[in-house]
Amino acid sequence: MSSDPFPEHLDALKLFARNGSVTATLPLSKLHRFAASLLDTEGAVAVDLHFGHDEEQRPRLSGSLHTEVRVNCQRCMEALPLKLDCELALLVLESEAAVKALQGEDAALDALVMDPEQGLDVLAVIEDELLLSLPLVPLHAAADCSAVLNAYQREHAVQESVVHPFAVLATLKRTGDPR
Ligand SMILES: [Zn+2]
Repeated sequence: MSSDPFPEHLDALKLFARNGSVTATLPLSKLHRFAASLLDTEGAVAVDLHFGHDEEQRPRLSGSLHTEVRVNCQRCMEALPLKLDCELALLVLESEAAVKALQGEDAALDALVMDPEQGLDVLAVIEDELLLSLPLVPLHAAADCSAVLNAYQREHAVQESVVHPFAVLATLKRTGDPR
């Protein structure tokens, strides 16, 4: 990845004012909340964000996040690599009430609140999006999951150790007729 490191201080208000963009590499180790769901913080997020406006001139944050992470498979508890690709399109409004009103209008619209003075915690927005993109219960595909393979092997072993009914009969005959 040849893009710039993620800026330490991002002024969302200025970026929206000039329809700016941020293309950067953000190490997973900087995302503490998201990292808590991961096995390790090796790697980085490729961030591509556009601070634009919709046709009604409302600020709109759009772009994409790409990363590869490792989580625990909830079946075998071993490492499960995951590729995450998020597409963002978030209207940025000034109050919770405005977000509620908008979602009443069109539930499909995603929005978030930006304090008109403090701006936006862009890092927190990125973390939220990444957390939402994680599967609720991460699992290996059955063919890759050692819990599934072990269960299969156990079942197989049990079947082999089951004594064949004819073998039992043969044993009875050999030990002799009780009469
Ligand atoms: Zn597994």
